Amino acid sequence: MKKILTCENLTEASIVKARLENYGIACYLTNQHFTTLLPIYNNMLGSGIQVMVSENDYQEARKLLIDKIAPHTQEVVCPQCGSKNLQLGLGNQKGLKIWTVLLSLLAFIPMGNLKPKYYCNDCNAEIE
Ligand SMILES: [Zn+2]
Repeated sequence: MKKILTCENLTEASIVKARLENYGIACYLTNQHFTTLLPIYNNMLGSGIQVMVSENDYQEARKLLIDKIAPHTQEVVCPQCGSKNLQLGLGNQKGLKIWTVLLSLLAFIPMGNLKPKYYCNDCNAEIE
């Protein structure tokens, strides 16, 4: 079994489970009781409710749940490995870019295309 998604609460997890089962993909939820009983510890322990699917169904389940895994473009997900473990970096011209970003923030004027990039901590991909 492989973790496909971590949900914040049981409601969300149930929706995900129902959607997968609609497509004939078996899944089960872990940490369900723990998070229901002790919701206050969710964030502290970073547990949530994990939705598990079998390795064989993983790719298909990912496609079905892509809107959950990557709900909107604001949430950056590594295109190579799907990791959310990303780091905001400024590339090579670090000093220059930091000053430019700070100045443009202060002035509320976008300066050039010095948008910081994300880097994946899992596969080191650079994400535009
Ligand atoms: Zn990655």
